[in-house]
Amino acid sequence: SPFPITLEGKVQRGFGRGGKDLGCPTANLPDESITPMSSVAKTGVYYGYAQVIQPDVPSGLRRADIKVLPMVMSMGWNPFYKNERLTAEIHIMHEFQSDFYGYEMKAIVLGYIRPELDYTSREALIDDIEFDKRVALNCLQRPAYQSYSKDPFFEKVE
Ligand code: ADP
Ligand code: MG
Repeated sequence: SPFPITLEGKVQRGFGRGGKDLGCPTANLPDESITPMSSVAKTGVYYGYAQVIQPDVPSGLRRADIKVLPMVMSMGWNPFYKNERLTAEIHIMHEFQSDFYGYEMKAIVLGYIRPELDYTSREALIDDIEFDKRVALNCLQRPAYQSYSKDPFFEKVE
């Protein structure tokens, strides 16, 4: 098993296509940060933990924003680039007060959920995303996985 796989990079602006409309915004990782994962893992939907690190904030104020949170991640070929570029997008299961473009994001990928699928309807896609989130939360219940939320790879909460 290639897991755990760590990823990190500054959150990139995508095309804003539907992520928020679908109730599932995805924070995009920079291209070069994906290589270590794409060389050992196939495309599809994954689960794990992620952390968003707000820049330039005095350390005392940082705590609330530095939580390690459950996430689902999609790694796939972006049709916009004529399938020449692999993208990795992370949906964090948390209500954020605002966008965090440009912030550093760290993630530990712990398991595979399913391959990439084509959808004929918006509803089918939304249903699958909801199912993915439940699968991820269930998997992360395992004590062996929970310890990864405290991995030294993440920035310390205290
Ligand atoms: P884009 O195409 O720019 O990635 P999205 O609709 O996918 O647009 O929205 C992604 C952005 O939404 C992220 O970069 C981040 O700044 C913000 N965001 C807010 N809440 C979340 C969340 N729970 N998970 C991921 N990104 C979120
Ligand atoms: Mg996105």
